[in-house]
Amino acid sequence: MTAAALATASGWTPEALARGAVAQVDLDAFRANVARCAEAAPGAALLAVVKADAYGHGLVPCARAAREAGAAWLGTALLDEAIALRDAGVDGPVVAWLAVPGARFAACVQRDIDVTASAAWALDEVAEAARGVGRPARIQLKADTGLSRNGATAGDWPALVGAAARLEREGVVHVSGVWSHFANADEPSHPSVARQIAVFDEALEIAAAAGLRPEVRHMANSAGVFGTPRAHYDVVRAGIGMYGLSPGAALGSARDLGLAPVMTLRARLAGVKRVTAGESVSYGSTYTTDHDTTLGLVPLGYADGIPRAASNAGPAYAAGRPRTVAGRVCMDQFVLDLGDDAADPGDEVVVFGTGGPSADEWAEVCGTIGYEIVTRIGPRVPRVHTGVRA
Ligand SMILES: *Cc1c(COP(=O)(O)O)cnc(C)c1O
Repeated sequence: MTAAALATASGWTPEALARGAVAQVDLDAFRANVARCAEAAPGAALLAVVKADAYGHGLVPCARAAREAGAAWLGTALLDEAIALRDAGVDGPVVAWLAVPGARFAACVQRDIDVTASAAWALDEVAEAARGVGRPARIQLKADTGLSRNGATAGDWPALVGAAARLEREGVVHVSGVWSHFANADEPSHPSVARQIAVFDEALEIAAAAGLRPEVRHMANSAGVFGTPRAHYDVVRAGIGMYGLSPGAALGSARDLGLAPVMTLRARLAGVKRVTAGESVSYGSTYTTDHDTTLGLVPLGYADGIPRAASNAGPAYAAGRPRTVAGRVCMDQFVLDLGDDAADPGDEVVVFGTGGPSADEWAEVCGTIGYEIVTRIGPRVPRVHTGVRA
């Protein structure tokens, strides 16, 4: 297919055509998925999780589209990600939750970003930042209810809450939220789910008894949105569902959940050639042609986020039908066996997304999760956003 023919299809920019690869991000589908997540948690406000460059989909365009679709809150892991949102002109409630000592708390206070404290050191640094900036910091307190990642344990919670309440009375901080995170929300009947909710409810009571009146209490990720209504509280934190992928097989496929693909990874064949039966393909000679056949070369590899674990396993759509990666995925390229179907250099391949297999199918054959497939697509692949509103 010629570049001119592809250029008439949406989502191929001249830069992407020349590169031979593009991650098209459909913001109409994204907004529909945001609305779908919101509809699944009707009593709660939606916090759109846009960490890790919006799971590889583009931080700022996705943040804006999430707001357009009604997300009251935005959430990031790193403070710098939240700062980047503000510096791009995105306003409204934003919370960040992962910081080390010396992180840019003052920059967050200046920009009215909620930060999270799970321990006394963080509370101290936020208080110091607030005094330096000369205005109260908005702070959310995180309880560890059983994930054993961030968050204060039940043993440390009363002291953290007490210290935060003192700082609030002094006008140094405003405790805007209390929250926690599930370990097994993708398995709603897992006994830890109910146990974590009970521990969280206790943490909320302790916070209330200390005089805190947080604006928002939240616990559910996408899996909790679809699988554990009891955990919706005031806000739900949706990530993967907005990006059109399933939060876990037990909850159903993305399609079952009414979610549409957002990222479509397309490439153009960098080479097409006939070979005879008995030719081995790619490093290690792990694939051998069993007929005379046509090989198509795709200019994407593990440096671009195509998992090497997809060798002889990854699905793709090319030359009119579904294919499987032939041989090993290399750093920059992989090969598809196109059989006797007609193909030309420059023809389009759908690696995943609309018109091809899903990122969840890639995850399945690679022994990982759809989150990792989309998040790893690297900077050598241009992102093109469709459905951007003026
Ligand atoms: C990433 C993240 C989420 C979103 O999880 P999904 O499974 O993608 O919905 C929610 N909360 C926290 C704390 C997270 O780190």
